[in-house]
Amino acid sequence: MGRKRRKIIKKTARPFPNVFSCPLCGAVAVTVVHEKGDQMALVTCGNCRASAEVPWYPAYSNVDAYTKWYDIVTRGEKPVEAGQS
Ligand SMILES: [Zn+2]
Repeated sequence: MGRKRRKIIKKTARPFPNVFSCPLCGAVAVTVVHEKGDQMALVTCGNCRASAEVPWYPAYSNVDAYTKWYDIVTRGEKPVEAGQS
């Protein structure tokens, strides 16, 4: 039986280039989705599903949108309820 030895490669597995930490659940799973030319960006936590749309300005980067989102979710204003019980 020729067993192949699996190489364990340690690397930071991040599916998205920009992932932020969530103030609600603590997971580093918050992603910013913005389509070019769009005036809104959708920010979602992949763990607790907290999501909100934030305005996107031309000078914005993902971290700016995240900061806006952070404001919204920590203040308890949730424009989008994503099936939380
Ligand atoms: Zn979360």
